Amino acid sequence: MSSVTVVDHPVLTHRVTQLRDRHTSSDTFRQLVSEVSGLLAYEALRDLGTTEVTVDTPVAAAAPARRVAEVVLLVPILRAGLGMAEGVLRLLPDARLGHLGVYRDEKTLEPVSYYQKLPPDIAATEVLLIDPMLATGGSALAAVHVLKNSGVTSLKFVCLVAAPEGIAALHRQYPEVPIFCAAVDRQLNEKGYILPGLGDAGDRLFGT
Ligand code: URA
Repeated sequence: MSSVTVVDHPVLTHRVTQLRDRHTSSDTFRQLVSEVSGLLAYEALRDLGTTEVTVDTPVAAAAPARRVAEVVLLVPILRAGLGMAEGVLRLLPDARLGHLGVYRDEKTLEPVSYYQKLPPDIAATEVLLIDPMLATGGSALAAVHVLKNSGVTSLKFVCLVAAPEGIAALHRQYPEVPIFCAAVDRQLNEKGYILPGLGDAGDRLFGT
């Protein structure tokens, strides 16, 4: 039941290489995160529902066509997830945006949930939970827990880079949540960073 989709495309791979490069500036890093996020969401939303409409083209009246029928809720995990939101919103300007604040205690590596703001009536909404790095899986687990408690039934997790440990942790508890990413890396180091990874995504996005 559990699924991991590693989106494999040269334009994506090229950008992930730039993201990994320690010499990439914050400015370029932000731009790349945004672009890669849009490309990943494009793939994750492949099964988004559409509805039949008609449209007058310049040369034909009432041509059959389709429009997106579902409203997507985008939920970045603060703070690094924010860096992914813009690229997805560019694809889906009508998407709603929730926020979940989860940070990782640097000593225990355990997630600490400190903020949540979600729109009402989200039970039947298609939700994309976004966070650049699926490392230990702690933040993702805490965020999925909050969303499930809020009644969410259709949920996908989108990240740039995943560690095998994080995938295992998320799917151990929530095998029904599909994961979409641009790469599955080797392992975590003793500080919970992904190897080879791309470093601290939040710090690189926000220049901290
Ligand atoms: N969070 C990051 O930003 N990078 C990692 O490698 C792991 C967690």
